[in-house]
Amino acid sequence: QAEVREGGIRIEQLTFAYQPGRPVLHDVDLTIAPGSFWGIVGHTGSGKSTLLSLLLRFYPAPAGSIRIDGAPLDQIGEDHLRDRVGLVPQEPFLLAATARENITMGRPISEAQVEAAARAAQAHDFILGLERGYDTPLGEGGARLSVGQKQLIAIARALAGDPRILFLDEATANIDSETEQVVQRALASLRGKVTIVAIAHRLSTVREADTIVVLNHGRVAELGTHDAL
Ligand code: ATP
Ligand code: MG
Repeated sequence: QAEVREGGIRIEQLTFAYQPGRPVLHDVDLTIAPGSFWGIVGHTGSGKSTLLSLLLRFYPAPAGSIRIDGAPLDQIGEDHLRDRVGLVPQEPFLLAATARENITMGRPISEAQVEAAARAAQAHDFILGLERGYDTPLGEGGARLSVGQKQLIAIARALAGDPRILFLDEATANIDSETEQVVQRALASLRGKVTIVAIAHRLSTVREADTIVVLNHGRVAELGTHDAL
């Protein structure tokens, strides 16, 4: 397997507040190597989604505190950033359109690429099980899919853009264990192919991660492998 050379993230001394004087992240330092798999866990409100939002530049982080492949995040072009980074949000938005359209999202992506992305996301088999396969309408908001299946479609959508970095914000704390396993399997199969930063509600979802970060009130409380934690 070829060594992954792109998709490294460096976070240095990152402190962030939505409201002045009330920081929700404190002095976060993380060095995420290209192609590595990181899990982020922590109680509700500990700052997990905020950290991802900053990495995606939804809010401006302090200058120089975040670098992607050596480049300060605030100096990376918008198109380049969107090209590099795929996001699987906590609540994926599905169109009332076919499985295929939900993966391409209007981008010029070939059938072969759609299928490769769906396979990588472990979504291919369940899509083929729908009555019209990739041409099956998923219904308003993906009404006919389970929470886990929606996340797999969202993973396939993110992968179809061929990102170097994949961010995943796991659906909810009360997902069933089957859904958890589906997401867990998808992440494990992507391991080493892209840099993965996955927020999980349970340690077990990211048991295969190279490194797990435990956030506590916006601080890195622990850092280690699943077995060590
Ligand atoms: P969960 O597990 O519930 O998703 P989380 O770890 O993702 O929680 P965040 O959403 O990052 O937590 O929230 C961290 C803190 O920042 C919380 O105190 C939250 O209330 C606050 N917060 C989050 N978003 C905003 C916002 N847009 N404006 C102001 N405060 C916010
Ligand atoms: Mg969150």
